[in-house]
Amino acid sequence: MGGTFDPIHHGHLVAASEVQSVFGLDQVIFVPTGRPWQKSDKEISDPEHRYLMTVVATAANPRFTVSRVDIDRPGQTYTIDTLRDLRAQLPHDDLFFITGADALTNILTWKDYSEIFDLAHFVGVTRPGHDINTDGLPPSGVTLIEVPAMAISSTDCRTRVKRGVPVWYLVPDGVVQYINKYKLYLGSEHDGN
Ligand code: ATP
Ligand code: MG
Repeated sequence: MGGTFDPIHHGHLVAASEVQSVFGLDQVIFVPTGRPWQKSDKEISDPEHRYLMTVVATAANPRFTVSRVDIDRPGQTYTIDTLRDLRAQLPHDDLFFITGADALTNILTWKDYSEIFDLAHFVGVTRPGHDINTDGLPPSGVTLIEVPAMAISSTDCRTRVKRGVPVWYLVPDGVVQYINKYKLYLGSEHDGN
């Protein structure tokens, strides 16, 4: 499951858990992006902060792990590179790429669009307010899964922290404490999508 995870929140975790259960996956690998090209004009937190918050949030689940492939690769993050790196590390496993419906809609603009479907099966998770348009996507390469409604976004979490509004219960407890410890999201406005 790729994401900016700035910060990781319970929407991400519920979606990952749901897809793990529906597909009977051995593990869900959370892959924080390095520099996502779709967000390159926006300020995002240090990759190490995003990586560590993801580790904190997933530590208790034996089926959840976190990969550094994207944050350790120089340059902007492209999904094709993520999938090639994971394939090299896991040559015998079936790969599923879990992504939100909003990101899936952008898939046609992704680099090496045709090859990515050879590397992984795509799972699009729906969330409130994001309609899915799968026009142009190969039906055999994509499955859509409805996850329990979670109207949480990282953008909203960042805005709440900046305004001094609590994010308890929107993100895991350890992530609330991590945000407070490193005083994240108090500065200039982070504007996600
Ligand atoms: P931002 O508001 O900064 O864009 P985000 O909440 O969308 O952050 P991302 O890190 O961009 O979080 O999300 C990673 C993936 O998880 C995306 O594909 C996104 O669509 C999906 N996702 C995010 N929030 C939810 C949610 N509440 N329910 C289901 N999927 C979600
Ligand atoms: Mg987003």
